[in-house]
Amino acid sequence: MSMLLICIFVVIMGFILGAVIGSGFLCFLSRKKTGESWAKGRSHCDVCGHVLGVLDLIPVVSYLVQKGKCRYCGAAIPNIVLKSELLFGAIFAFAALGAFFLVPLGSVSVDVCLTAVVVIMLHITGVLLKNKL
Ligand SMILES: [Zn+2]
Repeated sequence: MSMLLICIFVVIMGFILGAVIGSGFLCFLSRKKTGESWAKGRSHCDVCGHVLGVLDLIPVVSYLVQKGKCRYCGAAIPNIVLKSELLFGAIFAFAALGAFFLVPLGSVSVDVCLTAVVVIMLHITGVLLKNKL
């Protein structure tokens, strides 16, 4: 396998990992706000309460396929969900790219990414506190 294919694979895996973490972080904050346990219970629509299926839980893809609406009741899904998944995905893809090439980009990209993750987490938390989610 060529170095380019390995690099592309690493970046895609980094993006997927980041998108999953971004989605999980948003779910954690959302459940914390409503008083639900973040560790128990399946994901569900906040409007109709329908339990989401596996295909509804694929970060970024589910949002785009369903055009930002709940598949069961048609309620709009806040666009911060997509933003969070894309931002975390991009940050982790960048970090994975940096880690793949190690020195010196690796250490710089990890520092930048950790800072970006903290900033985004603070921003998302701020949005939630303003009841926009
Ligand atoms: Zn719904």
